[in-house]
Amino acid sequence: MTTALTAPGQDVHQRPSSTREHLTADTTRAVLRIQQRILASTRELLTGDGFDELLPPVIGPVTDPGARGAKQVDIDFYGHRWKLMTSGILYKQASLLTFDKIFNVAPNVRLEPLETATTHRHLVEFHQIDVEIAGAGREEAMAVAEKVVSGAAAAVLEHLPAELELLGRDTDALRRTAEGAFDRIGHDEAATALHRLGHPQDDHAELDWVGEELLSRHADRGFFVLDYPKGSRGFYDREDPERPGVLRNFDLVLPEGFGEVISGSERESDYVQLLTRIRETGENPAKYKWYLDLAREGLPASAGFGIGLERLTRYIAGLDAVWQATAFPKLPGVVSP
Ligand code: AMP
Ligand code: MG
Repeated sequence: MTTALTAPGQDVHQRPSSTREHLTADTTRAVLRIQQRILASTRELLTGDGFDELLPPVIGPVTDPGARGAKQVDIDFYGHRWKLMTSGILYKQASLLTFDKIFNVAPNVRLEPLETATTHRHLVEFHQIDVEIAGAGREEAMAVAEKVVSGAAAAVLEHLPAELELLGRDTDALRRTAEGAFDRIGHDEAATALHRLGHPQDDHAELDWVGEELLSRHADRGFFVLDYPKGSRGFYDREDPERPGVLRNFDLVLPEGFGEVISGSERESDYVQLLTRIRETGENPAKYKWYLDLAREGLPASAGFGIGLERLTRYIAGLDAVWQATAFPKLPGVVSP
C-alpha cells in the first residue's frame, strides 16, 4: 500500500514530496472517491428538491470583494482588466432571473495571504458548492445547508466504509454530523465564549482562524454562527432592518477542530441599498455596473450559501490539512502544478 498522507511529525502545511507520490497514493484515491460521493449526494439531493444546476462563470469584470485578506487575480480581457472568480455570488443572484432555486459547483481562485499556508484550511484554488434560493430567508437556506452536509456525511458512511477505514476516520463523530440537528449561536455569544476561553476576540469583527478552531474543538456537533457584524462581510449580505449593524447571515462551523465550512446569508437585492453598501465599503459602484443595472430593474430577494468542497471533503475524510482533499493542491506561496 502506498500512502502520501503525512506521517506524524511531518509538516502537514507543505505539499506532499512529489506530485506522483500524491497522485498514486491509496489514501489520495480514497479521499477523491469520498469527494465524488459528496458531489453525487449533493446533486441528487438538490435536484430532487427542485434545484437547477448551472455552470458557473470563471472570469468577469468584477468578482466578490468580500474574501477576507485575499488578493484577486487579474486577467487581460481584450484590453480590459478582468478577474478570476473569488466567488460567484453576484452571478448567483443574477441566475435567479432564470430559475428560482439554483446551485453550481464553482472553481474559485484567491491569492490568500502567506500566513494562511499554516491554517490547514486554505487553498489558493478551491471549489464551492454554491446554492441560492429566490424568496427564501435565512432559516430556509440553513435548512438546505444542514441537509446537504448531513446528507453527504451519511452517503459516505453508507457507501465508502472501506475508504473511511483506510483513512482512520472516527466514524462515531461523523455519524453525529450525519444526524444533522446542528446547534446555533449568535456571533456575540461566540465572541463571549472566546473571551471565556482566554482568546482575544474583537466583538465587532469576523471570528479569526484561531478562535474559530478553538470553538470548533470544544463542540461535539456542527453549529451555525448567526448575525455577523456589518463590515466583517461583503455588501451583498443583507443588514437586519431591526438590528442596524447586524447582518442576516450565518456560517456553519464543523466540530473536532475542522472549523468553518459554509458562509451564507440573506442577500441584499435592493438597488439603493446595494449602492449605499458598496459605497460604505469604499468601493466604486461603477465597477459593478452589470450587476447594479440588473438590481435597478429588479433582482429577486434571496438567501443562499457556499460550501467549501475541499473543506467538507477534509472533514468527512478526517484529514490533517485541506490540501490532502485535492489532486493538484495549490497552497499560498507554494509554486506547484
Ligand atoms: P467565504 O464566502 O469566503 O466564506 O467562502 C465560502 C466557503 O468557501 C468557506 O466557508 C470555505 O468553506 C471555503 N473557502 C473559502 N476560502 C477558502 C480557501 N482559501 N481554501 C479552501 N476553502 C475556502
Ligand atoms: Mg466565510
